[in-house]
Amino acid sequence: MKRFVLLFIGIIAISCTSTAQKEIKKEKKTYSVSKTNKEWKKILTSEQYYILRQAGTERPFSSPLNKIYTAGTFHCAGCNTPLYESKHKFDSGTGWPSFDRAVEGSIDKDVDHKLGYARNELLCATCGGHLGHVFNDGPRETTGMRHCINGDAMIFKPSKK
Ligand SMILES: [Zn+2]
Repeated sequence: MKRFVLLFIGIIAISCTSTAQKEIKKEKKTYSVSKTNKEWKKILTSEQYYILRQAGTERPFSSPLNKIYTAGTFHCAGCNTPLYESKHKFDSGTGWPSFDRAVEGSIDKDVDHKLGYARNELLCATCGGHLGHVFNDGPRETTGMRHCINGDAMIFKPSKK
């Protein structure tokens, strides 16, 4: 009887482990800056929260960052990570700040099907905040990529020179 009980416990332990492993696989990626929605709401404006945490999109031509081309860096409005540099910004005519490349390692990619087709979503690699999308119709003379970013997801910091 004792042996049978031990065997039984053993089976339960094994099945629990496999379930736990499956759950870990399903879990979303963890980011080095991680906060609850309540905590994000405290530090972000409602516009920033809508973009970064709810993957929203601002109205085109609404962001003051659209017109900024002076030397400096665009930082994540959620965690302050430098994401884009002015020298990689270009006027795409879309009404959203556009860049041909990001600061290396600062961006994470995901696929979103919100509009019924796959788009490459761009996220801050540090806090997982939604930034915008990347398309391959950018300037051919550089990278050919267009990072279409919501201005509300970023804060501009001019170079100190
Ligand atoms: Zn961030």
